[in-house]
Amino acid sequence: MSSDDPVLNYVAGRWRCSTATDYVAIINPATTEVLGQTPLSPAADVDQAAQAAAAAFPAWRRTPATERVQYLFTLKNLLEENFDDLARTVTMECGKTLDEARGEMRRAIENVEVACGIPTMMQGVVSEDIASGIDETMYRQPVGVCAIIAPFNFPGMIPFWFMPYAIACGNVCIVKPSEKVPLTMQKVFRLIERLGLPDGVINLVNGAKDTVDAILDHPAIRAVSFVGSTAVARHVYSRAAANGKRAQCQGGAKNPIVILPDVDIETATRITADSAFGCAGQRCLAASLVITVGEAKQTFGSAIAEAARQRVVGYGLDDGVQMGPVISRQSKERIEALIRQGCDEGAHVVVDGRGATIPGYEHGYFVRPTVLADVPPESMLARTEIFGPVLGLMHVETLNEAIALVNSGRYGNQASLFTSSGAAARAFRYEVEAGNVGINIGVAAPMAFFPFSGWKESFFGDLHGQAMDAVDFFTQKKVVVERWPAQLSRIF
Ligand code: NAD
Repeated sequence: MSSDDPVLNYVAGRWRCSTATDYVAIINPATTEVLGQTPLSPAADVDQAAQAAAAAFPAWRRTPATERVQYLFTLKNLLEENFDDLARTVTMECGKTLDEARGEMRRAIENVEVACGIPTMMQGVVSEDIASGIDETMYRQPVGVCAIIAPFNFPGMIPFWFMPYAIACGNVCIVKPSEKVPLTMQKVFRLIERLGLPDGVINLVNGAKDTVDAILDHPAIRAVSFVGSTAVARHVYSRAAANGKRAQCQGGAKNPIVILPDVDIETATRITADSAFGCAGQRCLAASLVITVGEAKQTFGSAIAEAARQRVVGYGLDDGVQMGPVISRQSKERIEALIRQGCDEGAHVVVDGRGATIPGYEHGYFVRPTVLADVPPESMLARTEIFGPVLGLMHVETLNEAIALVNSGRYGNQASLFTSSGAAARAFRYEVEAGNVGINIGVAAPMAFFPFSGWKESFFGDLHGQAMDAVDFFTQKKVVVERWPAQLSRIF
């Protein structure tokens, strides 16, 4: 693909050029090479995909679940065979290291594996004789056309939090990747094309805001799964709901790690550094605040500063690189401006990652790991999602104060505690207002057989992605009460 080539949509089992007139350049954030163009597909393209999906739905929902999952078994094998190629594409368009990209594709595959269990997972419930001769049965039926809208930071994994469950449950779907990173899904859809699925069961439409709004307004689309920033999640949730759709919208985060003085500081530092600086801090589960308690302040403060300085920054495809660039020039400028603002508000720079230049990649969008100490609790740095490799340090004297500080935040995606005390761990787990909790874990990413559970402004909706939550989201329950008295039946 050359730099001028647009990526394609995939509708009704065929690759199609979008009817877009506007495009966004796809840029490798390390090399700044232009990799292609994303068409900003207009409402007409969304309509075409929605109609194709709606046409496929009646036959697909009648296909037995045991047959539907056969396509997923094949897809799993194709993803395994193309694993490294997909991971390299993630690195090229999104910037993370190859190891991180492999981890991402592994979780994508795990979701396919879990969705292969749908014949059991979507079973209903029966109560015989709820009254004399009367039985009551709850069936799960698919919802219809579902749309999946993804962010830039996990181009290979996030569509898989939803898509395998949606189709295994008998739905049909449209995937809309981030306009910044559409290439991984182009490759995934080359594999989907080989599955021999009925036309229209899985469709791909590229674009950005207007494409999303066309999805939210389309009457044939019954359910929307969204992952992205909180402002857009809120918009998608309210517009989808206003149009009578069910919606699950995962938003941004500001994840704290609390460190008690009873831990092994070396281990806690290593794990915290991986959480804060892995994927260049562009993970919705990245630690962005550390709250030290009591004597942990001194030991942890100097250890994390050293870990930040030591981190090897560069192009994710090069050997030995531990951290890649951020996604765009705008993102780099925004992160550097937020660091500046944080300092103006009273934080102290311990390690400054601004102005990074990486030999061989001088134009890349690199920000080196940054550590800021004495972050005031009310400051922007303590409250705002930065989405870059920037770790703020705060300090309190007791675990209770730390929990209160954690719970004062607007987000609730993840909170972690490092301790060797079971009692402290139990108190933290019990009290903390976050949907994903880590105890001596820096990135508490739920396995595919658990829901990805954000709280507060990190999530709008009820049912999360992955596992049984996904089955509940992608099915609607029908309850049937049946009376078959002897006088109405011929008893043989
Ligand atoms: P984003 O909100 O800018 O974009 C997400 C999707 O929404 C993209 O497909 C984009 O095309 C579309 N979009 C952007 N602006 C829109 C608008 N005004 N109206 C309608 N659609 C719009 O997010 P991003 O920058 O791609 O991703 C980073 C964000 O995603 C971070 O905030 C991160 O925390 C969050 N995230 C959350 C989770 C989670 O599980 N909670 C996981 C990954 C990323």
